[in-house]
Amino acid sequence: MKVTFFGVRGSCPVSGADYQRYGGNTSCVLIEAGAYTPPVILDLGTGLRPLGEYLDSKNIAAGGMSDEPIHAISFVTHLHWDHIQGLPFMPQANRAGSVLDIYGPSQEDRSLLDAYHRFMSPPFFPVGVWDLLSSIRLHGLRPGDSFQIGELKVTAREVPHQGGLTLGYRVDSGGHSLAYVSDHQAPLGWEDGAVSKEVLALCRGVDLLIHDAQFTSDEFELKADWGHSTIDYAVTVAERAEVKALALYHHDPAHKDGDLDLMALSAKSLAHDDPPRIFSATEGLQIDLSEGFPVNFQDSLFKEVKTKSRVAKVHHIGS
Ligand SMILES: [Zn+2]
Ligand SMILES: [Zn+2]
Repeated sequence: MKVTFFGVRGSCPVSGADYQRYGGNTSCVLIEAGAYTPPVILDLGTGLRPLGEYLDSKNIAAGGMSDEPIHAISFVTHLHWDHIQGLPFMPQANRAGSVLDIYGPSQEDRSLLDAYHRFMSPPFFPVGVWDLLSSIRLHGLRPGDSFQIGELKVTAREVPHQGGLTLGYRVDSGGHSLAYVSDHQAPLGWEDGAVSKEVLALCRGVDLLIHDAQFTSDEFELKADWGHSTIDYAVTVAERAEVKALALYHHDPAHKDGDLDLMALSAKSLAHDDPPRIFSATEGLQIDLSEGFPVNFQDSLFKEVKTKSRVAKVHHIGS
């Protein structure tokens, strides 16, 4: 099971010299497993556009056409902009013959398709979901729903957030696993160790936890009800769930490369005995969980941070 980060930012995309190493696209992660498993995409933020280009380039490298249709399956955590707005910009979304199955949280008062259409319709956007040339099928999910997709088993559970019903996902394959908890409201007064049982069940023992770590503790004091977590809380969840690695994720748009370096170092210092690997998720980072982390993965990251030079990107692809 191979995991690639195409968007690691939360709230809104960013660009510029201060965001070169960690990247500026919003939430979007690709999971690949075996030739007979369709690509699985976690969230449809602005990282979806380069993700589509990556799938095309892979296809071309394998001898295929540049405009080959695909079948992909997406699991969306919730309907905030930063998790859905990449859809019309994915090349395959406007390609006849492509099929995109999008699963997301069921809405109380309307279908998931109607909810998406509200977002993708004039005057907010000129093109509706059904105007795109691909076949886009939206499916409402409830917490506890589970799917087998080729070699991947995907399970949805409810995650506390300020976004209506919000889901987190666990993906298991061949004895390896990851949990994706992109937007998670740390409970007020969480210092007592309170962690949602659903979140713990989602994350229990995974090889890689991708978790909301938008704020520092100081920032959280001012934004405690914004629906997100601190790096401290992300570490608490990781340790309580006994995960093997923690990717700090959903980076605040105000956090520049140097800030994210320091947040990763700070998170590492918060961990107790036998800590998980901890790093700030980087756009373009690819990790094959079947092979495990390279031996020098953590060392190379922090060595580069200390010298204030470019953070090493293990198995880095794209930009
Ligand atoms: Zn978000
Ligand atoms: Zn959100």
